[in-house]
Amino acid sequence: MFDVDTDRTLVAAADLVNTSVGLRSATPGLDQLTTVTQLKEYLSARAPDMRWPPSGADRTQLEKVQDLREKVQRIWSAAPIESDAPVRVLNELLHGVGLRVARGSDGEYRAEPVPASKELADVMTASVATAIQHLVVRDETARMRTCKGEGCDAVIIDLTRNRSRLFCDFGNCANRAHVRAYRARQAAHRRTFSSTPEATAPAGPSTRHMDAHTDTLDSPRLVKPSAAEKAAQIEVPTSQSAVAAKEFRDRMRDELMEKREKKSAKKLKKEKKAKK
Ligand SMILES: [Zn+2]
Repeated sequence: MFDVDTDRTLVAAADLVNTSVGLRSATPGLDQLTTVTQLKEYLSARAPDMRWPPSGADRTQLEKVQDLREKVQRIWSAAPIESDAPVRVLNELLHGVGLRVARGSDGEYRAEPVPASKELADVMTASVATAIQHLVVRDETARMRTCKGEGCDAVIIDLTRNRSRLFCDFGNCANRAHVRAYRARQAAHRRTFSSTPEATAPAGPSTRHMDAHTDTLDSPRLVKPSAAEKAAQIEVPTSQSAVAAKEFRDRMRDELMEKREKKSAKKLKKEKKAKK
């Protein structure tokens, strides 16, 4: 979305926040940054892309990284940023961070942070704070989100062009949300049927789909109807607006057919005249 290094750093920053205690896709998660070993694990998982050497991890650095995590979490939870308080936290992180121009990992020149020292926590702080700074000055902090999944506190960084990312990768947050939305739609359909007695449930595939699968939460068919089922649902509209839309489509089609028939009849007449 931005440049390759900024994107990577933002993902690493989200991962850092997600080592905190909290719910991950409805499952309680423990703090995963309580020991030097855990910090080394976090760093190793991001090496060599992040240039955050695990060898630099010790007790002092762990405490400083925990402090960095807490500050990044505060900034993240305030996003989209529209007040000065989270910016002040960001400026604390940027304190002592310099700037130089260097080639990024893609070979392009760009401004690169110069950390306050070569200590691991300072190196991490410089790159994370600089990446978040990009979001703030470009008014893109809405990309720092919390997963929309029920019972999930995981943070996500949305690097999609159309800002469409809503769910984390920890569990099945997206799937659970789609199932819930599907059930809500089906409930709305049932309410429509019961309030308009003349609109009886058509015996099409969509009804079968609803009856057979309403209570089987984990059925993938609930989430992804087949192409044939989708087509059948269009042919057998189930909501009032869909009924109206189908009626309109059918009427237009009929009118078009009528016009065509008239036209060809005229043409025939003309041809007959010409022959005479
Ligand atoms: Zn989630």
